[in-house]
Amino acid sequence: MAANELLSGSEVGRCPHRVALERGGPQVRNEVEIDETYQRRIREAERVADGIRQSVTSNYPDAVTVSSYAETREALAAGAEIIMAPRLPDDTANKRRAHADVLVRTGRTESGFRYVPILIRNIEVTDAATTRRIRSGSLDALRPSDSTWIEGTTSRRSDTITRAGLSLCHTYRTLEALGFADSERVGGVIDRNGSLWWLELETENVAWNLSAYDEAFRERRAVLDAQQQWVEGSEFPTTPFWHRECDNCPFSNSCNEILKASEDISLVRFTKFSEQIILRESGITTWRQLALLDAGRAAAAYNSVLSASAPHETVEYLGKQFSQLPDLIFKARAMWRGGPLRRVTAEQMQCTTADVEVDVDMESYNDHTYLWGATVRTRTAIEGVTDGYYSFVEWGELTSEAESRIFAEFWTWFSGLQRDCESKGLTFAAYCFYEQAENGAMRRAVSLTPAITPPWNEVSNFLTSPKWVDLHNTAKECIQTEGPLGLKVLAPYAGFHWRDEAPGGEASMVWYETATASDDETALASRQRILEYNEDDCHATRYLRDWINTEAKLLPSRDEMPAAQ
Ligand code: SF4
Repeated sequence: MAANELLSGSEVGRCPHRVALERGGPQVRNEVEIDETYQRRIREAERVADGIRQSVTSNYPDAVTVSSYAETREALAAGAEIIMAPRLPDDTANKRRAHADVLVRTGRTESGFRYVPILIRNIEVTDAATTRRIRSGSLDALRPSDSTWIEGTTSRRSDTITRAGLSLCHTYRTLEALGFADSERVGGVIDRNGSLWWLELETENVAWNLSAYDEAFRERRAVLDAQQQWVEGSEFPTTPFWHRECDNCPFSNSCNEILKASEDISLVRFTKFSEQIILRESGITTWRQLALLDAGRAAAAYNSVLSASAPHETVEYLGKQFSQLPDLIFKARAMWRGGPLRRVTAEQMQCTTADVEVDVDMESYNDHTYLWGATVRTRTAIEGVTDGYYSFVEWGELTSEAESRIFAEFWTWFSGLQRDCESKGLTFAAYCFYEQAENGAMRRAVSLTPAITPPWNEVSNFLTSPKWVDLHNTAKECIQTEGPLGLKVLAPYAGFHWRDEAPGGEASMVWYETATASDDETALASRQRILEYNEDDCHATRYLRDWINTEAKLLPSRDEMPAAQ
């Protein structure tokens, strides 16, 4: 059987249009651009997986590592306790090709041995949930029967878990077809921390259980059959629609072109597929049509009772069905304008100002903070205080003590500046973008080596005061965009541009690796690059707040109909 007739586990959760295009279609692939950030992500995933594989093989010295289909068949037939990197035979009857990183023997019946699949993924699997529980194992307790229930925890509702769950269902069904599946319908995921979590494949109300899988599998099989007919001259079976998967898809450029040309409704950021269907069925197929709906009537219609006899308008019918409709209308209006809109009145567009203003940003590597940076702007001259960029950094080994020490140095400077302002009767405010990140890093620095940091209540008193301003919150209250509200999107509206041509938190991880690998010129250049990037992030929040207090007040309101803009 030709390889492209087989459906893989990762394809079952994938966009059907992509599944079809991968076998040949009317669109071309993007030029492949593998940047250093992407390479690092791959390296990191491989490093995590290698470490996990080594732990498993040292905990299970009899584990069999196979390298071919024949060896896998042999190991399955012989009942090997643990099979590493199996190459499962194809389920040719159902045209499935499945993957597992580990197979664990769970028992034996008259007809042969039983196995459950485990995947190794560089992801987080669980979330807190008071009324839920999940089974957990470990790298030296790989059988489901060795697991324990963890109360108050559940699997995340995320795309990565849905993909992992569907892949496990796919492998389970393949093992079933081959006669090796366990009657207990579970599959394991070993996460980036080396914890093993068991997903019960018959869990209700999740997008990755066996019945959801069977449906998704059937749908994609039908797509592949229809794609074969396209080869023979029929119409191509699928069309694009923009969704989260598209950003990283090899067909994103051509799909985007097609959708832009038709002003497709799916281009409105984060419309759900189910919402798109409802909108299309009501004749709203383009984002311009969406932008022209009355957002106020849409909001009022949600949870209202529509009259059974009196006629009602499309916007009321739609608004009744999903609460997100006004938000989608406003995003479509921002698309129409090609820039941001005002969410509030011009008078309400406000960001705190002070005599002394400090913009703060930190840089981390794998959750360890190695740099605290801040820019100071004084609106009133203060003796001994100079405007500009200040940094507190550790380029050597990032021990817990080093992490706490640089924070303590930062805090000594920062709180000293505040006290100075207070003693002179001047006002003080500090700003960050997305306070969860900064607050979490401060909390961590204090907890690592409390003996050398300020006490947490001192830090916390400041963080909960009105002097600590989260620009992300301010922007969320004041600015309407097409969807994204990150600093890299907002600051350019305010006229700010980073010096680095590829600024980004993930890219800075690669720079940090270079910066700390040696003391040579390349490393020193990388350190400078990080410092400039951090300084620019601080400048970006300053530009953003200045803009909110001035020009952004002149933006059109999102409540205005596009024709009036
Ligand atoms: S870009 Fe989006 S719609 Fe197009 S094939 Fe990829 S995932 Fe599917």
